Amino acid sequence: MVRVNSINFNVNFRGQTQSKNNQDPVISAAMEELKKIKFDNNDVKYVKKLGAKPPFKNGHQAYDFIKNNGIQVKFMQLPSDDIHAQWDVNNKTIKINERYRDTKSKAVILAIAESTLHEAGHAKDLDGDSSIQEEINCLSLNSMAHRTLNAKDPGIFETNDANILKNGVNLYSSMYFDKDLSGLIEKVRKSYGNLPAGDSKHPPSNFARAIKNGEPNFTITA
Ligand SMILES: [Zn+2]
Repeated sequence: MVRVNSINFNVNFRGQTQSKNNQDPVISAAMEELKKIKFDNNDVKYVKKLGAKPPFKNGHQAYDFIKNNGIQVKFMQLPSDDIHAQWDVNNKTIKINERYRDTKSKAVILAIAESTLHEAGHAKDLDGDSSIQEEINCLSLNSMAHRTLNAKDPGIFETNDANILKNGVNLYSSMYFDKDLSGLIEKVRKSYGNLPAGDSKHPPSNFARAIKNGEPNFTITA
């Protein structure tokens, strides 16, 4: 959930600073989970048919991208509880909402891994801009990840009712893979409808245009 022109918080919350060598244990656990994420081939086919271009082939690629580019992943205060994570291009940082610091929930740790995957998708083009198409691409990552994680440990995501699950990764995955796409179209339009349908790095698909134009009856054509 990228936000452009995000405010740069130069504050150490609770006096804690994190370095690459002193990573928060919850972030470290989420990064280990990210490394293991794989996508189902049928899911990849489906999202591509829908119009998405997933920026990574699996979680390990995203993990390597983060490490190789010196991107930090940190808990930080975000403007609202509905912003679970954010890519901050100026500070080369993926910010995770600090309300999940100290979580003991496996489901929340997996949700942080999914959110990190999504934000790494935004980071991949090395800019701080976004478009509806870029969001669709990044949302395909966490939506596919959610399905394979849930298949590996059925019901895991129902063990906690945190906002990052309820109104985040659980919700997006179910809408993305729903036969009726109107929920996804309306949700993405509400959150990102102010963005252009596409941009030079992410040319708009018919799906991105349908979201921009508010066509909830869009269907995939073979
Ligand atoms: Zn996003």
